[in-house]
Amino acid sequence: MVHNFNSGPSILPKEVFEQASQSILNFNDTGLSILEIGHRTPLFQAVVDEAMATARELMQLDSEHEILFLHGGASTQFFQVPMNLLNENETAAYLDCGIWGTKAIKEARLFGNVEVVASSKDKNYTYIPKGYTVPAGASFFHCTSNNTVEGTQMHSLPDTDIPLVADMSSDILSRVIDFNRYDLIYAGAQKNIGAAGVNLVIVKKDLLGKVSRKLPSMMDYRLHIEAGSLLNTPPVFAVYVCMLTLRWLKQQGGIPAMEKINDQKSALLYDTLDSLPLFRPTVAKEDRSKMNVVWAMDNPELEKEFLSICKENGMVGIKGYRTVGGFRASLYNALPIESVRTLTDLMKDFANKKA
Ligand SMILES: *Cc1c(COP(=O)(O)O)cnc(C)c1O
Repeated sequence: MVHNFNSGPSILPKEVFEQASQSILNFNDTGLSILEIGHRTPLFQAVVDEAMATARELMQLDSEHEILFLHGGASTQFFQVPMNLLNENETAAYLDCGIWGTKAIKEARLFGNVEVVASSKDKNYTYIPKGYTVPAGASFFHCTSNNTVEGTQMHSLPDTDIPLVADMSSDILSRVIDFNRYDLIYAGAQKNIGAAGVNLVIVKKDLLGKVSRKLPSMMDYRLHIEAGSLLNTPPVFAVYVCMLTLRWLKQQGGIPAMEKINDQKSALLYDTLDSLPLFRPTVAKEDRSKMNVVWAMDNPELEKEFLSICKENGMVGIKGYRTVGGFRASLYNALPIESVRTLTDLMKDFANKKA
């Protein structure tokens, strides 16, 4: 039995893997593989339509928000966002909460001014800054809703009227939030939505068309919207896997049902960590992520020992990010609570043996 705690690409529902592999051989009884059908056929149009409609329904998006499936991973959005939203003489406000936010800031500086409104770098990104102000004249405010590497998650937004942009790669569809409150959301699919190779981008139409620079067609959100997200050949299989995962999510009861199970999984793991002095959760309690749980042990030898016990027991992807060390367990939507229970049982056994 394998327990997949990988941070991304990561676990997806078994039903999605089964259906996706079946469709590689014979898609919808057409005798054709999903990999060999044209992206402008009614067959694939139905996939895109269902993916968009299901995403819209699950997130309860209003008609001002457009849904796109774009290439290039979240890292492409790091520059596509400022390219579309920030004039050279304007300023964008960024929250610096981890390595992904830092990369987004670096890219934004290529296109205009960036004001970092707050940073948690002083404590190795182990908390989410609070009480900062977002300058009223900024073109937009950018934040990372969940810091995949460091294990922190935003539980509130700053009080501001300027457009909100969020990188939700690692916690989209995992908890109930007001998605319409955001002007632009992006998420690489390979954590909670589907296979690598595609981004889910949600953008409010009235945000666009305000920059003076010329945009390459593939970088222009407006052209993608006009083309119904089929401006060129999309990553067909990746979009198909997204559609299947969204369909699965709807069958499970949607985002509220996911939130409930995600709350149970993360509570089980954090409660166990808090009860065993051998393990030390690394981030501020109020900013803990329910998707990526990060902890360390004070003794490197014990860390090694526990890591090999995890491996022997089928735990995959439990080692912390190379710059952070320690451990990280990613508890994405598709991870069953049984995997978390197996992990916490191993922790308790280990702590008993070492006591
Ligand atoms: C994984 C991740 C990214 C990078 O995604 P790519 O698809 O590899 O570009 C960006 N932001 C966050 C929050 C992530 O978790």
